[in-house]
Amino acid sequence: MTVTAPAPAAVAHFRFFTMEVLRTRRLGRSFLRVTFGGASLADFRSGGYDQSLSLFLPQPHQEHTTLPSTDEDTWFGAWRAMPDEERPVMRSYTVREQRRTPRGVDEVDIDFVLHGDSSPASSWAGRAVSGRRIMAIGPAVAENKSVRFQPPAGTDAILMYADETALPAASAILERLPAGTPVKAWFEVPHEDDRLAPASPADVDITWIVRADQGPGRTDQVLEVLRAAELPDARAPYAWIAGESGTIRAVRRHVVQERSVDRRAVRFTGYWRLGRSEEQLLAEAYAGRAPSEDPDSAL
Ligand SMILES: Cc1cc2nc3c(=O)[nH]c(=O)nc-3n(C[C@H](O)[C@H](O)[C@H](O)COP(=O)(O)OP(=O)(O)OC[C@H]3O[C@@H](n4cnc5c(N)ncnc54)[C@H](O)[C@@H]3O)c2cc1C
Repeated sequence: MTVTAPAPAAVAHFRFFTMEVLRTRRLGRSFLRVTFGGASLADFRSGGYDQSLSLFLPQPHQEHTTLPSTDEDTWFGAWRAMPDEERPVMRSYTVREQRRTPRGVDEVDIDFVLHGDSSPASSWAGRAVSGRRIMAIGPAVAENKSVRFQPPAGTDAILMYADETALPAASAILERLPAGTPVKAWFEVPHEDDRLAPASPADVDITWIVRADQGPGRTDQVLEVLRAAELPDARAPYAWIAGESGTIRAVRRHVVQERSVDRRAVRFTGYWRLGRSEEQLLAEAYAGRAPSEDPDSAL
């Protein structure tokens, strides 16, 4: 997980937005696209690629999200001080697309993985209906640190691994790559009909991995496929790896140790961790026990 305890100062390039559900659309067995609108989105500035944002979702007994403060210096303390049963649930998601419609309406799409009714974000998305309002901390400037896909100058091929939670980000990245960029991508999804092939001007070769094991054995399946793969002939590949924390560490080890990709040219981000909710991961981050995603970490 990318869990950094949110420091109030970090909000400088970000601000609060009120986002209202306009419509939902089922994209595959696991994916639900929620399209948001709202007047404040006129100031929303997605940097594209894997731009992420923090959503604040209401508790099941609440219709809309309300926060006691959206002031950059005080919101965090005020949010933390709320009673557990009233405090909106904070979760990280990807801006799948931002657009202004021909009628001048600002819209933001977020693709939620539905993975069960007992997890707050998945459950909220599964029940989302138009008119529901949530809050988000999102980008106020397009160049911001929540765009993690940053290939160095001279990159001549892209390697990608994403599970279903990172498929929206991978798809948004692929849409923006220059025509002809060689890309080898491995996308791991729970079901056959979750293979939502992204459009891209790049020269993309995708291997889909339909998960056979829901537990820790999933990583072995991914590694087996990776080891059998032929990579593009490149001098300076850049690897973007995102998904379940245990799997992304193994994939990162594979590309660095077995494929000799320069560890500084690998961006790996844990999007979730098997058996841990985002609250538990945040608690570990506050206690300084979160595993490192530093490119120089020896794993
Ligand atoms: C930068 C970033 C961008 C992200 N973008 C997206 C995105 O666009 N779409 C998206 O769907 N997710 C995305 N995620 C992942 C999402 O934040 C997590 O999956 C989150 O845990 C979901 O919250 P929840 O309330 O549903 O589950 P939690 O309450 O956090 O977790 C409850 C339980 O469910 C498990 N769990 C969490 N996610 C999954 C899953 N997908 N499948 C199976 N079990 C799971 C946990 O291990 C835990 O045991 C992103 C994460 C990050 C860090």
